[in-house]
Amino acid sequence: MASLLARAFRTIGKFSLATSIGMGLVASDALAQQATPSPGSAKAVFGAVTLPTQGAPQSIGFYAKGCLAGAVALPADGPTWQAMRPSRNRRWGRPETIGLLERLSRDAAKNDGWPGLLVGDISQPRGGPMINGHASHQIGLDADVWLTPMPRRKMTAEEREAMPFTTMLAKDKFLTINDKVWTPAHARLLMRAASYPEVERIFVNPAIKKKMCETWTGDRSNLGKLRPEYGHDSHFHIRLRCPPGSVGCTGQAPVAAGDGCDKSLAWWFGPEPWAKPKPSTKPPVKPREVMVADLPKACQAVLAAPSAASARSAASGDKAAGVSAETDAMPVSGDTPPGQIPQQ
Ligand SMILES: [Zn+2]
Repeated sequence: MASLLARAFRTIGKFSLATSIGMGLVASDALAQQATPSPGSAKAVFGAVTLPTQGAPQSIGFYAKGCLAGAVALPADGPTWQAMRPSRNRRWGRPETIGLLERLSRDAAKNDGWPGLLVGDISQPRGGPMINGHASHQIGLDADVWLTPMPRRKMTAEEREAMPFTTMLAKDKFLTINDKVWTPAHARLLMRAASYPEVERIFVNPAIKKKMCETWTGDRSNLGKLRPEYGHDSHFHIRLRCPPGSVGCTGQAPVAAGDGCDKSLAWWFGPEPWAKPKPSTKPPVKPREVMVADLPKACQAVLAAPSAASARSAASGDKAAGVSAETDAMPVSGDTPPGQIPQQ
């Protein structure tokens, strides 16, 4: 394994080349994020909704093409979590997702030396595409968690907006973990998240996956759930499978058997992902914006459905037992690290 990856490293060769290409990718992603969605586009319409629908939770469509009814919110604060970037209003999800995050936060604090979770984006109040940052997170079954432990004190809203991301990658090396920031507690947190049967995938940077492959000495039966994906170096992305009986939720193919510490991982370090596309003789096709009509039909009904009376009444405290909730719906803004590829 190690030698396979080492060989892949040698293949990529020039670090400076990879770096410049990498920076190009980041720059173009930033440009894409600056583009303002047209009025009527699915991003604009779903991004403007501040409250979920009433009624039972329903995930409609696929992680990267769908919407969400009956969402509940993760409370901004819990004993072992704090929700980040509050102005985005993306703390909404299926009750299963919210419950899983709360459980992970408790279990990790109790067992893994991880004092609590900083929770990033989950979904918008009615799911759907987001104005910036993610291709997926559309049906309430995806959630981002920071790879930074929760501080002991309660952060202010301003601090939660401004706190910078901390990358786990070394700045001067190609796709390599910075051992000054990475700790065994990070590894335990990831494997804790992977241990729940309802979690189907966890997206992490290829360098993090490689580190886990090389260093995890415990039970490796859930290691295959850790899926390499660029970005995801300051947060990881938890994806739940469609809950049993959730009609209309389009699942994803199960992950391949094994721990994934093989040539499928080495690929991410090789030249192929960085290769320039072959010049085409055809004129480039400008990608068309996704409109509401491009989503499953039921998403139009989700948009038209009556709102929950308030964010507070829709929050998990009123729908799930035993959790108190304090939420305020706020306008959506902000940015997110690039690199969400949902098909993985
Ligand atoms: Zn994500």
